[in-house]
Amino acid sequence: MNYERFFTDQLNALRSEGRYRVFADLERVAGAFPRAKYHGPDGLRDVTVWCSNDYLGMGQHPKVIEAMREAVTRCGAGAGGTRNISGTNHHHVLLEKELADLHQKESALLFTSGYVSNWATLGTLAAGMPGCIVISDAGNHASMIEGVRHSRVEKRIFRHNDPRDLERRLSDLDPARPKIVMFESVYSMDGDIAPIDELCDVAERYGAMTYLDEVHAVGMYGPRGGGISEREDVRHKLTVIEGTLAKAYGVLGGYIAASTALCDYVRSFSSGFIFTTALPPALAAGACAAVSHLKDSSLERERHQDRVRRVRDGLDRRRIPHLDNPSHIVPVMVCDPVQCKLISDLLMDEFGVYIQPINYPTVPRGLERLRITPSPLHSDEDIDHLLDALEAVWTRVGAMRSAGDEDIDGLTQLCPVAGPMKMDPAELGVTSCPWVGGREGLDFSGEAKADA
Ligand code: PLP
Repeated sequence: MNYERFFTDQLNALRSEGRYRVFADLERVAGAFPRAKYHGPDGLRDVTVWCSNDYLGMGQHPKVIEAMREAVTRCGAGAGGTRNISGTNHHHVLLEKELADLHQKESALLFTSGYVSNWATLGTLAAGMPGCIVISDAGNHASMIEGVRHSRVEKRIFRHNDPRDLERRLSDLDPARPKIVMFESVYSMDGDIAPIDELCDVAERYGAMTYLDEVHAVGMYGPRGGGISEREDVRHKLTVIEGTLAKAYGVLGGYIAASTALCDYVRSFSSGFIFTTALPPALAAGACAAVSHLKDSSLERERHQDRVRRVRDGLDRRRIPHLDNPSHIVPVMVCDPVQCKLISDLLMDEFGVYIQPINYPTVPRGLERLRITPSPLHSDEDIDHLLDALEAVWTRVGAMRSAGDEDIDGLTQLCPVAGPMKMDPAELGVTSCPWVGGREGLDFSGEAKADA
């Protein structure tokens, strides 16, 4: 085989589809979020970041930076080993206590990322329990899917956010078999929220464990930032709550919170936990400061929701189509990979607005978008500039609009999936979509999925 040729052909295929990924070379500027330096083709420029998962700007919060600085000074750079062999630092222990308390569970267990926590925990639980079967929401993240795939157990997929379909699938199964029902709270690309309470009630009726990924909700929802499960007071119904320290908490790392026995089981049997170096103590210290701060302060969450509302209202006024959802994620729909990249490039080059284009396999083909994530640190002026930039680029490239109250001129192309005239993607021929068939159904071999 001509290996180089193979790689080049594969990459060229991505380019011809308009979904070759180009990373923006950024330098974050401590204390200036959402501003960053962009190392572009024309040299260094200031840009405003509109697609970060540092949702609340905690990655640059003075308390977090100070905690990390102090921990580096006291403990040095790395952990020095796996958790079992000299790598457990007191900062890890404190953080696990903080996380168990956050979710009101007996214990918590840290991993090197949210991806690893899903992959390792689900893989270990499913493979360990004899005859286990996993029932998975159609919109679940790649890390959950890969964990189950690794366990090689049987899996069934239920329609996205649909307790009735879950019930149908569970009722077919042997009551004696161990079962894990897995789903997310806030879905990263559409920003919709799971009916956690109902899903848990169904799972309980059929004796299934429940596993909830709260990656896009921890720090952001609930009076202490415990996620949607805290906001809706259903934490006690969940067997496992999984989260990340890399998004609203602004640092790095993942975790599960559950019973002491379950955490101890994963700690003792999971290769993804055992055979890797522990997080640097300074990361644990920074994350601990972020979790603790957001337990006491709701200011960031309130301001954040206000910013999201302002962006959405501005988009509506300009008829720029976005998915209507109850979360902080604002998916602006372009529905074409080439145009999506073009819009993103124009925003960056001409307006200093950075929004990464999102395409397949992160979202289904035909549902390409700009995923906007306002933060509490975006000012009114930032929002006005974003909206003016979007309006100018939208007009220039003739991108789709959402239907408005006023007369449509007959020339404007209307976005079929966002706005009042929204259609079911099935009618549009979009088949690999959480609402109609499931991202679970896509072939992600060798590709990342839902990478936000
Ligand atoms: N779970 C979901 C739903 C995600 O969207 C992501 C990442 O984007 C992860 C898990 C992985 O988290 P981390 O970025 O901490 O690895």
